[in-house]
Amino acid sequence: EQKDKSDLLRAHELSQTLFHYILKNTAHGKIALEYLNNRGFSLKLMNQFQIGYAPSMRNTLTEFLHKRDFLLPLMEQGGLLSKAGQQQYVDRFRDRIIFPITNARGKVIAFAGRALGDGQPKYLNSPETILFNKSKTLYNFYQAKTEIRRTGRIVLFEGYADVIKAWSAGVLNGVATMGTAVTGEHATTLKRYADQIILCFDGDEAGQTAAIKNLSILEKMKFQVYVAMLPDQMDPDEYITAHGSDRFKKEIVDNAVTATKYKMLYLRKEFRLNDANERLRYIRSTLKIIAELESPTEREHYLKEITNDFDYSFESLKQEMFEIRQEAE
Ligand code: ATP
Ligand code: MN
Ligand code: MN
Ligand code: MN
Repeated sequence: EQKDKSDLLRAHELSQTLFHYILKNTAHGKIALEYLNNRGFSLKLMNQFQIGYAPSMRNTLTEFLHKRDFLLPLMEQGGLLSKAGQQQYVDRFRDRIIFPITNARGKVIAFAGRALGDGQPKYLNSPETILFNKSKTLYNFYQAKTEIRRTGRIVLFEGYADVIKAWSAGVLNGVATMGTAVTGEHATTLKRYADQIILCFDGDEAGQTAAIKNLSILEKMKFQVYVAMLPDQMDPDEYITAHGSDRFKKEIVDNAVTATKYKMLYLRKEFRLNDANERLRYIRSTLKIIAELESPTEREHYLKEITNDFDYSFESLKQEMFEIRQEAE
């Protein structure tokens, strides 16, 4: 087991070096390099994140590992190769941009492979292996750790490309999950480094819903949670490309709203607020969110926000919220 682990770690390290070399220095990597350039990934970024390219041939990595005496069945279990029949192995990643995924110590434990065009699936990740546990792993955590500790703040993205592009914009405390929800294990790791977390998810429906879903576990773990809001149909990567680093930092990250505020705003979409009855139902749903807050000053803060946004008196809102709190007891 220990020997298998160290062999696999070594194999991942060598594979990363190979993929990175192929991207930057070979004819096979040319189209991938152009693709990355077109997406605004500079050479500096490719180096910083050790981005690579797995060529379209069936046996590039298989031959490479075989020549170096790695056991191919182990390499298959480790997610680097796929089975192509009895004792036959082929490269798992073919014609894909490769994003190495590291553990908290900076060792490569898996890869994410992105199709160059509209190929499916868009991302092919390593499977779970003796090295790689998706519910524990955070993309870029190793590199972001220093800045997370320095600022006491984490920026959580949905995608690898978002983390990388944000880094180029000067946001050095960005991490991402493996395309899945935040787990208790992620939260426990992060809590050792920071108390504040900003969710910076895609502006589309899926991203906004994912933000809502991730709030509760983070709030339970006593993070101060903020949510950054992007224009509909844009993700952080696209926003930075379209509007630049400064606007991303000032208008998106710095304008992140508190979790409670975000829930209140998110709820608005479910009601037609110019209808008086629906508006009252919205207010009541919002008061339920506020009623759950522990601190009286916090409750007052958000009650005042409703007073400002809608034409109801503070007293009646407060009264109704108290009734909701009593019903909940
Ligand atoms: P890109 O900018 O390269 O198109 P993205 O990060 O914007 O990628 P999304 O479709 O927004 O891609 O998905 C967010 C994240 O979800 C991805 O970064 C990846 O981790 C995960 N993901 C998306 N599609 C898949 C897939 N088909 N299989 C596994 N994971 C996926
Ligand atoms: Mn998305
Ligand atoms: Mn996206
Ligand atoms: Mn994207």
